[in-house]
Formats: sequence, structure tokens, C-alpha cells
Amino acid sequence: MNATAENIARRLGLLGARIAERKLDALLVEDAADLRYVSGYTGSNGLALLRPADEPAPDFLTDFRYTEQSQAEVPAIYERKTVTGELRDSLPALLGGGGGRLGFDAAKLTVRAHTRIAELVGPGWELVAADGLVAEQRTVKEPAEIAAIAAAAQLADEALQRVLENGLAGRTEQAVAFELEMGMRRLGAEQPSFPSIVAAGAHGALPHAQPRDVEIPRDVLVTIDWGALHEGYCSDCTRTYATGEGISAQARETYELVLRAQQAGLDAVRAGLSGREVDAVARAVIDGAGEGSHFGHGLGHGVGLEIHEAPRLSRTASEQPLLAGSVVTVEPGVYLPDLLGVRIEDLVVVRAEGCDVLTALPKGLAVVS
Ligand code: ZN
Ligand code: ZN
Repeated sequence: MNATAENIARRLGLLGARIAERKLDALLVEDAADLRYVSGYTGSNGLALLRPADEPAPDFLTDFRYTEQSQAEVPAIYERKTVTGELRDSLPALLGGGGGRLGFDAAKLTVRAHTRIAELVGPGWELVAADGLVAEQRTVKEPAEIAAIAAAAQLADEALQRVLENGLAGRTEQAVAFELEMGMRRLGAEQPSFPSIVAAGAHGALPHAQPRDVEIPRDVLVTIDWGALHEGYCSDCTRTYATGEGISAQARETYELVLRAQQAGLDAVRAGLSGREVDAVARAVIDGAGEGSHFGHGLGHGVGLEIHEAPRLSRTASEQPLLAGSVVTVEPGVYLPDLLGVRIEDLVVVRAEGCDVLTALPKGLAVVS
């Protein structure tokens, strides 16, 4: 979805309050996803300077290549300017004389860029690390954002279903991944939201396995992790299938264990619990079966304009409670080196009393040969 001028104005209002709370006189926004969120701009070279309130108006800068695009996308609540040279070189003019506190996102700015900005704005301006200020606000999705993510998830589900109709065994991992990605595009996705994972047998023991030019055998597990980018928003889902009834008892047991952990995680998700607490609930199921050391990643992550964004669900996630309206994944996995891997992932909207699951494909162990 392209944010409307009203969406943007509302976001800027909320951000203005956050900027004031941190006693900043201005906030520099350059990250592509943050920029899209605060301004609607989808081009690659842009800079926004936000203020604690509406006065003075926020500034938006781009170069001549994007003048028309930014006029169409960035609402007139911004002072929109086209400049030549580096966008940051215009910061002193935008900030004016005197001094103050200029916020920036230290998680996204290089040391070199920080040094350059400090030189440009001069000693009157204190550069203040205001990490995640926009990212935190992005965690709580508007209804239209949730609708866009749900549409991406639905489209991705549909694309996988069509791929499965042609079976898995005897085709290469790469061929399956390619067909899946083409299928998502045919159904209206701009592109996959990340490179698809199709990993059969022992290859599935690598959580981020790349699809190989290798045929998928019968009687193994195949993990497929894929998502669509649709109207700027990402989806993310994982399913693991068997390519025959002859899979090992260990494969079945591992599958059932991961499914139990995933269900426990889904049952635990609700506003007010922290990402760390939800992770712990699902992890306890896997720990209880003695497989804790084979679940080496976090339970989940936020999804939105980016495939990985705040909040995190993991052992080291913050103690901050999850907020209603956040969209997160629940994706436990068990990876047995040189043998097999199982991961099951759903995308959910955090609600006050639980969650709404956006990914709808069934999860009972299915044979797709
Ligand atoms: Zn995934
Ligand atoms: Zn994920």
C-alpha cells in the first residue's frame, strides 16, 4: 500500500511527540524503509529531517533523478527540495544557524558518515544517538499495513500450493525455488521478500540453506521458507514436507516436536508478554525433549516494510512487552547436523488477547512426493 497523506501526517504527529520526548530539535532519517514510512518515498536517494512538532515543517530532499517521483509520493506537509551533490551537504542550511540536538540512528549510520555530518553542522549541533526511534513506531502497524502484509501472505500461500501440485521429489531445490518465486510474481508480488529456501534431507539442517542444483529424493523432509513482497510489505512463512511415507521415525518425531513448540509459541503470543517470554515458552518444549542445543536461533522477528525488523522474539530480546498491532513470526526449528532439519513458521498479528495468524497453509505432516 502507498501511505496516504493522512497516514503520513498521523505518523509524523506521533513521531513529533517521540522527538520531543527525547529533547531533540531535529531527527535525520535516511534509511530506505524508515524514509518510506515517514514520507511515502520509494526511491533510493532521499533524506528527511523531522521536527518535534509541525513548526518548522519537515524537510524532504532528493536529487534531480527523483524530483517527479518525490513530488508524486511525498505529501506537501513536507518542504520538498531537489538539490545537487550530496544530500547531507544541505543539512546546515536546513538546520539554520545556532545549534541544538540532532538525532540520528546509530544502528544505521556509519562512523564515517557520523564524522562527516558532525563537520558539516558544526560544533553548535550535538549529534544524539536516537536509535530505533522510527523503527519502534513502525512495530505497531496500521490496519492498512496489516492488510497489505496479509495480502502478501495469502499470495505466497497460493504460490506454494501451486508448486506443490507438481510434487517435490525428483525436481531440484533450485527448480522448486524458481517456480515458487515466478509464481509469486505472477500472482502480483513485486518480488520475493527474501531469497527462498528449499532444503531437502540433511541440507535442511542448515537454517539458511541455499537451494542447490540437486534433485530432491524420496522419503526425506524438505524445508521451504519463502515470502512475497507486495505493495512494499513482506510476508514470511516456512513449511516442512515429507517426500514419502518412508521417512525415518526420527524425522517424524522431530516434526511433531517442532509442531508442538510452534503451537505453544502461537498460544503464548499476546500483547503484554515480552519477545523473550514468548521465546521461552516455545523453547521449553524443545528443551524438554532434550533438543535445546539443536534450536540455535530466536523464535521470531518482526515483519513489515523489512523482512527482519523489530521486535525480536529470542533469548536475548528486550524485556519490553509486545504491542498490539505488531506483526511477528513464530518459527521454532530443530536441526540435526548431517541428518535433517524441521522448521515451521507462521506470521501473526499480536492482539490484546492472543494473535491472528496470517499464514494459512495446514501444518500436519503432509506427504508431497
Ligand atoms: Zn522465514
Ligand atoms: Zn522468519
